[in-house]
Amino acid sequence: MSNFYARICENGHVDITYRRAKGEHCHQCGAPLMDSCPRCGSLIKQWHYYGMVYLTPKNLKFERPDRCKCCGHVFPWAEKKDL
Ligand SMILES: [Zn+2]
Ligand SMILES: [Zn+2]
Repeated sequence: MSNFYARICENGHVDITYRRAKGEHCHQCGAPLMDSCPRCGSLIKQWHYYGMVYLTPKNLKFERPDRCKCCGHVFPWAEKKDL
C-alpha cells in the first residue's frame, strides 16, 4: 500500500509527498509546510493506493481546500487571498 499526503505552505504552494515529516519547508518560498489542520489536527488530504498501481505525486489531482473539512478552520493561504 502506498500513502500520499498533501502539504501546503502558508502561501498556498502545494507539495505532495510519500511520507509525513515535521519541520519541512516549502521548496518554492521557504515557508513552513503543514499537512494537517492547525486547529483540530485532521489531515488536509491523504490518499491510499493498493496493489500495483503506478502513481507518483504528480499524477494525483488535488484541489487546494480553503477550509478544514472537519472543523471549518480557514487556512492561512485562504485568508491571504482575501486581502
Ligand atoms: Zn510556499
Ligand atoms: Zn480542523
